[in-house]
Amino acid sequence: MSARFGLVHVSTGDLLRAERQAGTALGRKADEIMNRGELVPDEMVLGLVRTVTTEALNDGRGVLYDGYPRNLNQLKDLERILAELGVELDFAINMAIDDQKLESRLTARRVCSKCQKVYNVVTHPPKEDGICDSCGAKLFQRGDDRPESIRKRLADYHSQTEPMLHRLTEFGKVREINADLSIEQVRRQLVDVIEQWQAASRIA
Ligand code: AMP
Repeated sequence: MSARFGLVHVSTGDLLRAERQAGTALGRKADEIMNRGELVPDEMVLGLVRTVTTEALNDGRGVLYDGYPRNLNQLKDLERILAELGVELDFAINMAIDDQKLESRLTARRVCSKCQKVYNVVTHPPKEDGICDSCGAKLFQRGDDRPESIRKRLADYHSQTEPMLHRLTEFGKVREINADLSIEQVRRQLVDVIEQWQAASRIA
């Protein structure tokens, strides 16, 4: 979606994994917390988000946040950063799916250790077991895709992320899509939602 609409993709999970990979102090601190499936403290992501958002907007580009904000405090942080830069949060997309289905998807997820391509061992397996079709490197299972961590992530989603989503819904800023469909159908809905918003903002 970011490539199609010329947006900068800001995934706080990816940013944290890059810090971990680079062995920075922040990455080392985040490592254990992430493996347990817990959310890292808000201040840890705030600095990362501020930096990439400022760079993107200075470059005249919009931002597509992925996995951020995850709670009410992060929403406040984001609104403050955006206000400082003279812009507002346009809308959020809620990719709705029930917990059980999400749990099966996460349990079956494998990621390429080199090119980061994502597989599902049940619905979209690699041609050769454990090996990336694209680059031939080994696939691995994310530490936080193990059942105990998944349960913790889902519990945090309901206790922390849902209230944040309710707040955004009150402000009319949430677009719901059904994520329990094929990749192509989910992609189509995402494109529609973003195109509808673009059309509406051209009229406004
Ligand atoms: P994700 O790639 O979005 O599934 O995130 C993987 C893990 O990174 C999460 O389970 C958290 O430990 C951490 N993380 C990612 N984004 C955030 C965030 N916005 N706030 C706190 N922790 C986060």
